[in-house]
Amino acid sequence: MKPQDLVRPEILALKAYHVPDAQGMVKLDAMENPYSLPESLRAELAERLAHVDLNRYPQPSPQKLREAIARRMDVPRGMEVLLGNGSDELIALLIQALARPGAALMYPSPTFVMYSMGATFNRMKAVAVPLREDFTLDAGAFIERMQAEKPALVFIAYPNNPTGVLYPENDLVEIIKACPGLVVIDEAYHVFAGKTFIGRISEFPNLVVIRTVSKLGLAGIRLGYLVGRPEWVAELDKVRPPYNVSVLTQAAALFMLEKLDVLEEQAARIRSERTSLGRELKALKGVTVFPSEANFFLIRVPDAVRTDEALKRRNVLVKNLHPGIANGLRITVGTPDENRILLAALKQALR
Ligand code: PMP
Repeated sequence: MKPQDLVRPEILALKAYHVPDAQGMVKLDAMENPYSLPESLRAELAERLAHVDLNRYPQPSPQKLREAIARRMDVPRGMEVLLGNGSDELIALLIQALARPGAALMYPSPTFVMYSMGATFNRMKAVAVPLREDFTLDAGAFIERMQAEKPALVFIAYPNNPTGVLYPENDLVEIIKACPGLVVIDEAYHVFAGKTFIGRISEFPNLVVIRTVSKLGLAGIRLGYLVGRPEWVAELDKVRPPYNVSVLTQAAALFMLEKLDVLEEQAARIRSERTSLGRELKALKGVTVFPSEANFFLIRVPDAVRTDEALKRRNVLVKNLHPGIANGLRITVGTPDENRILLAALKQALR
């Protein structure tokens, strides 16, 4: 007996999500915060984690952590918080819960791959609506397509990955109003954009917001949160595995929420580095830089495969998006040192 005889054909046809080995590389491929925690904080965190009971299952729906998130992230009164093992898991839960037979899942494209992957896993019809050439959103065209497809679920990354574009708030409001299904605004990069729909959730019966602490500097602990009306959260909570957020993640997150200013200060440094990196990338001959409100840039070069390989030889790891995005490379904003190394390597790679 072979797996090929038993595994669903749509799974056999997929490629596993590829994560390249980054050892010894300047790692600018995954939108991580490049700064580590100050030594004193690490010691304090270690002390906190030392008292966690590893022999006990985690609290299934940790109230303290959900309340701390609600408080620190300005969740409006009356809205609920649902926790996930990264926002990846929240995306999966949303799709599982809404995947009625024949239901459609819609999103502007290109965007984060997990939306279409989740559709495949759960047999939803994935409807990718192309963005314009410059990766801005044609809200009118999107709404027209919604009227034809009647999606049960719409995902909009705000700002978008891998383009960095932040769509106009009013366009999203029009889409939410016109949508016959649930709209999920994915604010993975909100700290770099300073825009959010969290304060507006109560205006719309069909809106939830998902976020992650990954880009803020905690990608390793795997924690995402969804904010929505209690009636949505109650249904989604039924699909959630009971112990999906580990005791270590809960303790580390509670600790870091008390020290949020440290991470916010790092995010501010990344935003300011984004300005200078964007300027320097634009100055390179043959490079098109798309405007970004996130902690990365999408650039277009004459030959992305060649440039990517040349960067790798110089120990710089970026994300090659070719051929999905013709000659596109996605570059995470790093520390000033990392950005200098990147720019020098890129100049040589483009020769
Ligand atoms: N949403 C978007 C738009 C993303 O780019 C990512 C990560 N690349 C995620 C969600 C998932 O983040 P995590 O699972 O680390 O919370």
